[in-house]
Amino acid sequence: LIELRAVNKYFGDLHVLQDIDLTVDRGEVVVVIGPSGSGKSTLCRAINRLETIQSGTILVDGQPLPEEGKALARLRADVGMVFQSFNLFAHKTVLQNVSLGQVKVRGRKKEEADRRSHELLDRVGVANQADKYPAQLSGGQQQRVAIARALAMEPKVMLFDEPTSALDPEMINEVLEVMRQLAADGMTMIVVTHEMGFARSAANRVVFMADGRIVEDRTPDEFFTRPESDRAKDFLSKIL
Ligand code: ATP
Ligand code: MG
Repeated sequence: LIELRAVNKYFGDLHVLQDIDLTVDRGEVVVVIGPSGSGKSTLCRAINRLETIQSGTILVDGQPLPEEGKALARLRADVGMVFQSFNLFAHKTVLQNVSLGQVKVRGRKKEEADRRSHELLDRVGVANQADKYPAQLSGGQQQRVAIARALAMEPKVMLFDEPTSALDPEMINEVLEVMRQLAADGMTMIVVTHEMGFARSAANRVVFMADGRIVEDRTPDEFFTRPESDRAKDFLSKIL
């Protein structure tokens, strides 16, 4: 479903993605971990074309990434993304946040969009918050709304970039639980996270990045019990 071949990305002199090859099949859950600055966010952003790459190929569902216009808006709907900072529209209600893109990008009627939005808000456990504004919600609730908003576009894949890093500890689990459910329902997911419990329980594969490269790409069991590289061993010794 997602295919990266020999992808290279520079920020000036900094070679942030170095010959990245990565394939994610339909229904797979891939957790990406690695030290700060290793290129995890850049990798996610490149798949959504929030960053351009200098060489290599990225295919989503067999198609190269569109450069602009309506096709790019559709790509971003197909590739849902949830960030660390809850980037909801502050001046719109929760319901409007979830409905807006459905109308604008997917061309749904407002009533139909609102109906789906209510279903999704229910699914992520914030059904009773529909008429509030983002600032009136807890961080965990806002993040679940952000997930509902991405899901409302019926994405082919969901990218999560440290979705729980900015949350108070008691809210982390409610967001992880929604993500676990999504994984169990068969959603294709790429998840950057430091939540090793999630990686162990929900991931099909763990991709370990360091210095812009994929150093290991293995099952969680293999990765956590028998990391091969010194970089991964060192990283795990610090976080586990
Ligand atoms: P973290 O765990 O801290 O989120 P990361 O693995 O997500 O790190 P990236 O955000 O992808 O890392 O950044 C990779 C490298 O690229 C870092 O050295 C970062 O400073 C640099 N970088 C990221 N965005 C930009 C930018 N817009 N301009 C210049 N350099 C950037
Ligand atoms: Mg990052």
